[in-house]
Amino acid sequence: MTARIAINGYGTIGKRVADAVAAQDDMRVAGVAKTKPDFEAKLAVRKGYPLYAANKEAAAKFEKAGVKSSGTLDDLVKVADLVVDCTPEESGYKALYEKAGVKAIWQGGEEPSLTNLSFNAAANYEECLGATFVRVPSCNTTGLIRTLYPLDAHFGVANALAVMVRRATDPGDSKKGPINAIEPELEMPSHHGPDVQSVLPKLNIHTIAVKVPTTIMHLHIVTVDLKKPATADAVLDVWKRFPRVAFVAGRDGVKSTAQIMEMARDLSRNRSDLYEIAVWRDGVHVLDGKRLFYFQAVHQESDVVPENVDAIRALLEIQKDGRKSMDKTDKSLGIGMVK
Ligand code: NAD
Repeated sequence: MTARIAINGYGTIGKRVADAVAAQDDMRVAGVAKTKPDFEAKLAVRKGYPLYAANKEAAAKFEKAGVKSSGTLDDLVKVADLVVDCTPEESGYKALYEKAGVKAIWQGGEEPSLTNLSFNAAANYEECLGATFVRVPSCNTTGLIRTLYPLDAHFGVANALAVMVRRATDPGDSKKGPINAIEPELEMPSHHGPDVQSVLPKLNIHTIAVKVPTTIMHLHIVTVDLKKPATADAVLDVWKRFPRVAFVAGRDGVKSTAQIMEMARDLSRNRSDLYEIAVWRDGVHVLDGKRLFYFQAVHQESDVVPENVDAIRALLEIQKDGRKSMDKTDKSLGIGMVK
């Protein structure tokens, strides 16, 4: 079966999910839906993705701009087995998908209660098999789960504190800031801690976030009290066995997120994306045998992309084994080259 996948919302995440779907041999892009006939819409057509207007109002804009569409989202859901909803949070398409009887995956901007099931391929693939609706948590949350889940499985996490230094906005966005300030998120915990618990309900985690004037990556400073004693090498060995965790080193000249993105560009992947969470190998420290400290960087535009591909396989039960799905996705996207 080649699953027919619709992508609703073709921005930062949507266009990456579309390309990742197109790179698989067990699914194809049935179409992408957009509100505006902008450059992204025109490029989607050039890539050969059937283009749909999100609604009748958008269809009129498409017509006026001379951009040909194949219909509206109502038409697209009829020729799709599943929709990956990459629209901004609270766009409100759940009722439309329910009416069409189509499965759907949302992104981390939505509340966990929208689907009551959040997805991470390593942590709960099997739990999501055959589900109608799931949500892939945000880039930061996915990043935290990637490294905390293996730690919890191997050593046990008594408690974790993650301080997140967040990028202000994405590189393609010229509207948001801050551009010359550091902005603390005053809510405690930041929404990321409860969001991690939407996948790992028993994990005792607290999160704090600040926004800084950078666009390329987020950086996390994580402190974990482990239940079983460990060394830094033992922690690194555990992460090495899990997919989508990559290692960088200050001693190799990777002093900041700037060099990580330079390394990502050197890997020559699609859009220079870094789907893996980058952990500084020489920034992993264990004090008193049980208190672990580490730094990791998250490429916010792309780390959730492989998770979306695996979520498609889980919901449509194309592959029942999560590890096999992850291996297939990772091979198709070139993940695993930096270990
Ligand atoms: P974006 O603004 O880059 O893209 C959203 C796209 O949806 C745009 O093409 C926009 O024109 C379109 N759109 C807007 N309203 C729409 C509507 N009513 N119907 C159909 N399309 C509509 O946003 P994004 O960064 O790709 O974020 C999408 C989702 O992914 C959000 O839930 C966000 O929280 C989540 N997310 C974003 C990031 C990130 O860093 N950018 C990371 C992980 C998850």
